Amino acid sequence: MSDDGPSGDSARFGKALELVQGRTNRPLFEMWFQGLSLVGRDEKSLIIGTPNRFVCRWLEEADPKSLLRACIQQAFGEDLPFTLKALPRKSTKTAAAPAPPATETAAPQEPGAELEPSEPAPPKVPDPKPDAIIRSSNRQAARVSRSSNEPSATPGLDPNSSVQLNPAYHFKDFIIGTCNQIAHAAGQAISQSPGKSYNPLFVHGGVGLGKTHLLQAICSELLKKPESSRILYLSCEDFVNQFIEAVEQRKLDSFRYCYRHLDVLVIDDIHFLADKERTQEEFFHTFNTLYNSQKQIVLSADSPPHEIPTLEDRLMSRFKWGLVCRLDPPEYETRVAILRAKARSRGCDLPDDVTDYIATNVRSNVREIEGALTRLLVMANYSDKQQLDLAFTEAALADTIQASQRPVDFNDIIQVVCDEFQVRQSDLQSRKRTQAVSRPRQLCIFLARRLTGLTLEEIGGHLGGRDHSTVLYSFEKIDRETHRKEDTRRLVDELAERVQKRKTVE
Ligand code: ADP
Ligand code: MG
Repeated sequence: MSDDGPSGDSARFGKALELVQGRTNRPLFEMWFQGLSLVGRDEKSLIIGTPNRFVCRWLEEADPKSLLRACIQQAFGEDLPFTLKALPRKSTKTAAAPAPPATETAAPQEPGAELEPSEPAPPKVPDPKPDAIIRSSNRQAARVSRSSNEPSATPGLDPNSSVQLNPAYHFKDFIIGTCNQIAHAAGQAISQSPGKSYNPLFVHGGVGLGKTHLLQAICSELLKKPESSRILYLSCEDFVNQFIEAVEQRKLDSFRYCYRHLDVLVIDDIHFLADKERTQEEFFHTFNTLYNSQKQIVLSADSPPHEIPTLEDRLMSRFKWGLVCRLDPPEYETRVAILRAKARSRGCDLPDDVTDYIATNVRSNVREIEGALTRLLVMANYSDKQQLDLAFTEAALADTIQASQRPVDFNDIIQVVCDEFQVRQSDLQSRKRTQAVSRPRQLCIFLARRLTGLTLEEIGGHLGGRDHSTVLYSFEKIDRETHRKEDTRRLVDELAERVQKRKTVE
């Protein structure tokens, strides 16, 4: 342990970053490590701040986490685990605390009564504030103009609070193949003339196939246009949370005003609306208002509209009004093209046999391909390898490829969770609802949803025939907790790691 206080720790952390810098190439370091800062420390671990959620997520999911840990160990003289935390942007905080509008300070109402689809009046706000609707993560606000009779802000709702466009998600970086060409063409058409070609555009596909990349590329392209328009990109989870907040704080007028006066609304992972009846109702009216005024709507989901559980029929049919297109796993040629492009962008030209080896063995999605490439490049950096060859690649990726070829087995999850909580598998599958059993069961569900391709129904089937809404409820409960409680996040990470290890050793 250090005995010279926080400033000593900061210096050591700076040293750790220097060590990382020495072991990675410049683009990698600048993109992912440069912005890290030490924000806290307790007896046993460090808390490291990341400049945004993309960096946080990437570091959590990819191999460089072990590189960072090794460098921390060297700089601090002990193996210190750490947690990553995306730091809030300062500019957002000031914008997020507006005074409540005069129209909404009335006596408490029954929340359901607030859901009527009235056209919201522009809320009155005392303090004008910047009217940026969307920001790119290079922190340059994309200004949008408003006509002079509109309020200069949308109280109770800060659309920027979670909006960040990944600077790597542009059309020019999106490799086109048969797996995605329709979605790509539709996205480009929309970015040229929003509201006029396909409305709504509904893109669906499994994880890591490029939905977020495509949606953000549309936004980035629209932001380049000289004429101003109001564009909002956000995850469906944020939409749901903002709606709940608006109901709680009686700021529904503001919420509606903001969402119904956009030119382009882009919502990622709309399947998150499943089972949220009130948000579905609200979204239905938002959709109608925008659609009727020929404003562009773009949505993504992990499945086509009719497969999203408990999605209202009227929403499902609206989602099909425009163009529904699917992103498929990339075929061999596209995998090769993606690998070449990603390697080049990291300053490396891969030999053909190396590209072929990875493209042949890592097939499921682009995120896994990127993960394999990152691992290879980091290991090459570690070993001071001047020239990457096939033998080195095979050795470096042996675990990854073995693991990626074999999907996570639900039984592995059960085994790991039963070991951790000392419960029996039969208890998890029983009707018992004591805390001692229901908590492990909820964790099983969460891990299964994260680590396997099983549907909600299939997961329910493995756990004694529970229906999909129960499964979804458990998933969301743990999911929320992982965002709020450090302990839960650590526990989930640890369990997931143990499940993955079972996969590689067997
Ligand atoms: P999803 O939202 O479908 O889970 P993402 O859009 O997050 O997937 O994509 C995962 C990773 O794969 C991202 O880094 C993205 O840039 C990359 N990716 C996906 N599709 C492509 C593509 N066609 N060309 C280049 N990169 C891609
Ligand atoms: Mg996504």
